[in-house]
Amino acid sequence: MRAVRLEGFQGPSSLRLRDLEDPQPAPDQVLVAVRAAGVCYHDLMASYGHFPRTRIPVTMGHEIAGEILAAGSGVTHLAPGDRVASVQGAGCGACRFCRRGREPLCRQGVGFFGEGIDGGFADLVALPARGFSRLPASILYEAGAILACAIGTAWHALKAKARVASGETVVITGAGGGVGIHAVQLAKAAGAQVVAVTGSPQKEGAIRAAGADHVVVARGGDFSPQVREVSGQQGVQVALEIVGAETFPWTLRCLEPGGRLVFVGNVTGKPVELKPAVVILKDLEISGATNTTRQELEEVIALVAEGRVRPQVAAAFPLEQLPEALERLQRDRPLGRLVVRPNGGVLARAA
Ligand SMILES: [Zn+2]
Ligand SMILES: [Zn+2]
Repeated sequence: MRAVRLEGFQGPSSLRLRDLEDPQPAPDQVLVAVRAAGVCYHDLMASYGHFPRTRIPVTMGHEIAGEILAAGSGVTHLAPGDRVASVQGAGCGACRFCRRGREPLCRQGVGFFGEGIDGGFADLVALPARGFSRLPASILYEAGAILACAIGTAWHALKAKARVASGETVVITGAGGGVGIHAVQLAKAAGAQVVAVTGSPQKEGAIRAAGADHVVVARGGDFSPQVREVSGQQGVQVALEIVGAETFPWTLRCLEPGGRLVFVGNVTGKPVELKPAVVILKDLEISGATNTTRQELEEVIALVAEGRVRPQVAAAFPLEQLPEALERLQRDRPLGRLVVRPNGGVLARAA
């Protein structure tokens, strides 16, 4: 099978297309013919060595959609022929986090796909079945490949962490990115008013079309006066910080007393300055949102199947063009998410 391997930490130029032995599923694993895999900003950062757990060489790719070719003897909820989509990693299934349905916090399983275990930028993957859910025929594989990290992350942040309620106002930074454009849709689906912040004036129309009530175009500098103006001066109840240090000081200023801010993105990886007095006196909640749980993936699958959220795939590349896809992500900040489509080799072999 073909796989694109990360073999160094010099960015996309460290990726190489290789021919590898076909993987074999362990008893708890499924063998999946990958039809599409999401290309995430995380992959770009990983290619520069930003994450200590990335071992090389490795096949990255932590959002996978495809078809099950074989299932290990211990797999009960999936079978060969099933169309599936993955979450970003898999827990052990037995620890206190896994037992409470918070498997992204598990430190005893295989962890994040494409980090310590090979992920989806390949024709085939063998990964724990507990990282996959069934994908209905109505959802295309390209869309299936962005349900976990692009849409599920936004869902986890809005629902589990921000607890957004109907009638509240939500400010979303990085609103034109892969997570942001879906956060806009999900917040609207939850009945919230959405103030979207973007650095790209050319994305304003698309963000509005995704459901944003207001779009604030901000390139550096304090955007909180504009957010306050459109939200009736009192500030917003919920903020999703999808950019990170670059926008955090202004995002924090958008909150009304008692507001909730959730860190979702961390584009530059830089630290932020935070005055405890602001958090104390305004009685704020500041939290972080990590990966999607299987339960949340299944909720997202239902939302997409019902047409309440439309997955935004910016472009699809052949597997071997993963380096070009990552360069495009770095250069253009495309609207929505990019995917790669492995499959050529596997389809030929199956036929
Ligand atoms: Zn991701
Ligand atoms: Zn566990």
